[in-house]
Amino acid sequence: MAEIKCPKCAGPVQFDAGTRFTKCSYCSSQIYIDRSGALFYYAIPFTLSESDAVGTFKRWAGGSTKAKDLDKLAKITKVAKKYFPLYMFRRLIDDREEVLLEPAASTVLPGLHQLKLPGGDLQIFDAQFNTSGAEMVQPDIAMTHYLTTLPGNAKEQSLVYFPIWELEYQFKGNTYHAVVDASSSEVFASTFPIRSSVAYIAVSIAGFFAFIGEGLLATVNLLAGTALMAVTVAAVFVASLYVARRL
Ligand SMILES: [Zn+2]
Repeated sequence: MAEIKCPKCAGPVQFDAGTRFTKCSYCSSQIYIDRSGALFYYAIPFTLSESDAVGTFKRWAGGSTKAKDLDKLAKITKVAKKYFPLYMFRRLIDDREEVLLEPAASTVLPGLHQLKLPGGDLQIFDAQFNTSGAEMVQPDIAMTHYLTTLPGNAKEQSLVYFPIWELEYQFKGNTYHAVVDASSSEVFASTFPIRSSVAYIAVSIAGFFAFIGEGLLATVNLLAGTALMAVTVAAVFVASLYVARRL
């Protein structure tokens, strides 16, 4: 038998070696025991299915900053369902309670520093929790790693498993990664194929030089200069529209 302090009420909780889940006999909290001590574990249910996640990704890929036809040409090569752990720190900062999230596992996946807590959807993660086939990413960063640098005073800390879909896709011979938050539908990607901006730059440079020339002309002939400027504005507008539609 070993003994730990309940993370909520500090009552003594006895447990057998090898036990991972136990219950505080004083406040009935579910407690998860790991190497770094006793914690509350929470998990957020998946609201996006695999096909929802792929659909969300396709809509994201169709956005105006993405390469043309990325939504149609991106070939999804891997889809993984995962639960990713984050530490949730409730802190009292200047008399105000704030919730801070920090990754509990090291990762190169994009967006896992930007995950936000959905309102009221935390479920206690215990032996009965249904992980619905998702791979549980194991924490490999100790909570104490963050504790010394956080602002304010600690009120409570816990570990929250976030539901994510990890996508790998190929576009024009390159491999990219994206993460779809399976509770908020947000898409995260650090690099992705972008729309060519060369044509936009060419249009603005041409417009810029035309304006300089017309400005000089206006000092000699005001009417002709301003008339040409109006033509240039219209031309730049039409050219930008063309570039936006075609490229
Ligand atoms: Zn307790």
